[in-house]
Amino acid sequence: MSSNPDFSDAELIEIIGNLKKQRNAVILAHNYVPAEIQDIADFCGDSLELSIKAADTAADVIVFCGVRFMAETAKILSPEKTVLLPVSDAGCAMAQMIDAAAVRELKRLHPGATVVCYVNSTAEVKTEVDVCCTSANAAKIVEKLKGEVIFVPDGNLARNVAHKLKRDDIMPFKGYCPIHNRFTVEMIKKRRREFPGAPVFVHPECPPDVTAAADAALSTGMMLKYVRENPSDTFVVGTEIGIIHRLEKENPAKKFVPLTTQAVCPDMKKIGLWDVYVALRDLSEQIELDEETVKKARGPIDRMIKG
Ligand code: SF4
Repeated sequence: MSSNPDFSDAELIEIIGNLKKQRNAVILAHNYVPAEIQDIADFCGDSLELSIKAADTAADVIVFCGVRFMAETAKILSPEKTVLLPVSDAGCAMAQMIDAAAVRELKRLHPGATVVCYVNSTAEVKTEVDVCCTSANAAKIVEKLKGEVIFVPDGNLARNVAHKLKRDDIMPFKGYCPIHNRFTVEMIKKRRREFPGAPVFVHPECPPDVTAAADAALSTGMMLKYVRENPSDTFVVGTEIGIIHRLEKENPAKKFVPLTTQAVCPDMKKIGLWDVYVALRDLSEQIELDEETVKKARGPIDRMIKG
């Protein structure tokens, strides 16, 4: 996160607002980025939800405050727009665990299998797969597929889907999110002792024993809905702690306890107000994808959206 002593946060926020109008830009913030970035965003949400929203706006410029694969997805859905990733080295450890060559090798070893790809993957990987999914719709997408399924890159999400659908023909890739993979059943037991009666929800990127020990395994969008509809006043949150800011904002009377305070994605925390300002000032860093990549990567995303 870069900063500049010449401007206060309030001044930067004003400058960003003015630049945003000049550029006809929209600022998107993932639920895990720092609070001050969520607060200046036009939309907060998960990566796919944000990209779909941005494609629907009349903005010429999308500033994607998140990690690279998310900005790539926005570019795939809006190739005519300028898509900016303010921190160029904000990556996703899980997305980087697989490349297109590894997908091609899996397809060679399992001809006839359908390749399902979690959206947390690079554009290059998406060009090689049959259909994409999110953590919210993964089970729904896989349920419709007959025969063997290769599921990349998140092995935990694959195993959670296989368990839910009671299927033994889903082959999980060995990738994982280092943040969610760190959660344990012991952490859940500890929080249940400390906050008796508080519902515990976790993300489906967590290992299956953890999702089984929780009250619910939910995508970030589903977590927001779950809290809105649940009468409890305290919740234990098993995902990256950035989402707690949004949960608190939307539910000021409720209390949110992280399953562990260690659940911090370093790449999501790289961005600061100064980075957003520089991105808008210099129109940098622009996501560039060639036409062929956009076309090939769009197919599996469209197939997912159509259901
Ligand atoms: S939280 Fe996990 S899946 Fe999300 S960007 Fe960070 S490493 Fe990737």
